[in-house]
Amino acid sequence: MPSYNILLVEDEDNVAAMLKLNLEAEGYGVVHAPNLAAARTLMAEDISLIVLDVMLPDGNGMDFADELRQQSLRLPILMLTAKDTTGDIVEGLESGADDYLCKPFQLDELLGRIFALLRRQDWDKRQVELEHISFYGIDIDMRSGLISGSSQAAALTDIELKLLRYFSQRPYEELKRDDIMQAVWDAPSTVKSRTLDNFVLRLRKLFEPDVGNPQHFLTVYGSGYRYVPPPSEE
Ligand code: CA
Repeated sequence: MPSYNILLVEDEDNVAAMLKLNLEAEGYGVVHAPNLAAARTLMAEDISLIVLDVMLPDGNGMDFADELRQQSLRLPILMLTAKDTTGDIVEGLESGADDYLCKPFQLDELLGRIFALLRRQDWDKRQVELEHISFYGIDIDMRSGLISGSSQAAALTDIELKLLRYFSQRPYEELKRDDIMQAVWDAPSTVKSRTLDNFVLRLRKLFEPDVGNPQHFLTVYGSGYRYVPPPSEE
């Protein structure tokens, strides 16, 4: 079972403590932010889902959801709204929440919603494999690795494609070198760290507009890499 970290944005200490305890009992990692400023900082962690209270001391949770969507973050957001008026709910979903619960809620229902959102997120990630990615007019078929719109190469190698797939399914996450090598290579113990660097360099040469100043295949010093998807061409 994959491990999930939940960012819990909730300013009521007793509610936050109760949720943290119960989510941890379910096997989730929980990081707690009592306000939006802390939530923004904690987004640097490897977060799988956000439980987001609406009324917070330094702003409105809906604005935070909106910010995240504008950064194209695909993290599921479960919003906790105090009032169950239709207006609040519609506004919450429009701001980018995936689901909502009205306070007070049943713990079982919260856990059920979180489970469903994470399962759907995993399914979405797998769907990425069926799609294609475009980097500034260079199109990659993610099933075959065929590249069109570029004169540089006709197809990605098997490793290049697996590496690009691994990155594209985990946008914005801090990806540790060992995890990448475990996932991409059949015999990771025989792979040198430098080999991974060389493959990332090849992806940069293929897809970064400026190889010397990468914007998509970023180095996280002392850890690994972070992938930032190219701007959508829709
Ligand atoms: Ca609150």
